[in-house]
Amino acid sequence: MEKISDKCIKVFLETAPLYSWKEFKKPNLNRSSMWINEIDSFCETCNQERPFQDMRSRGGGAGMDIKALSTGTSFFQFSCASCRGNQHEYLVEQIVTDETIKIQKYGERPRKKLERDPLLQNFFSHDSDCYEKAIVCISNGYGIAAFAYMRRIIERNINELLDLIQEDISSTEIESPIIANLAKLRPESKMSDKISIANQALPEYLIPEGLNPLGRLYKVLSEGVHSYDDGECLNRAKTIQACIKFMISELAARKKNRDSFKSLIGGL
Ligand SMILES: [Zn+2]
Repeated sequence: MEKISDKCIKVFLETAPLYSWKEFKKPNLNRSSMWINEIDSFCETCNQERPFQDMRSRGGGAGMDIKALSTGTSFFQFSCASCRGNQHEYLVEQIVTDETIKIQKYGERPRKKLERDPLLQNFFSHDSDCYEKAIVCISNGYGIAAFAYMRRIIERNINELLDLIQEDISSTEIESPIIANLAKLRPESKMSDKISIANQALPEYLIPEGLNPLGRLYKVLSEGVHSYDDGECLNRAKTIQACIKFMISELAARKKNRDSFKSLIGGL
């Protein structure tokens, strides 16, 4: 278990879904409050991610007793460091024991925006309903449901993804072993075979640091929800999202580059 720190509280405020609990080890020297100085959040006024700071006076002062943090509730209020106009507020309940501090977020204002990725939204446009539900589930921490929706979306769109990869490779190499491997992924073969094929069906430039996103995708697809708890499923749902996002954005950028090069040179 992690020892509670300002950083833990910051991450918790920024990312924890409402009504979710998280437990930490109590530090050797207990905190006097849950308050922290700063978080990062999206400012609606500045229209970008900004630091938000707690501008409230901390009280106390010389000679006052500093009480140790005890079980109860904490109110957080942060203002955008740039415009000062936008305030973000959080309510947190804390349960303090001899060894641990357990916290729950029970309020957040303004309501957290769901993170929709425009590229993915576009790619999944035929399954926008499923994608929307997957996003809602991810942001609420409903891992099992998020994983189920994500798997469904991938199963329905995997061939289009393979098309994109193939199109990209064909633009430079006509006869690549990778194209043959991509073709092998299409027929109804055993999932266990597909995982190893997928690991060899991507060009180097789509394998950052040796991490093969297509292989990962097939591996995650092969796993059912039955054996995993909510947290593990949530991680898998996020993995699927990250793999797809990486491949689609890389392929789109390369296509755009190719097209603009062609139109430049073609005109000469
Ligand atoms: Zn602002």
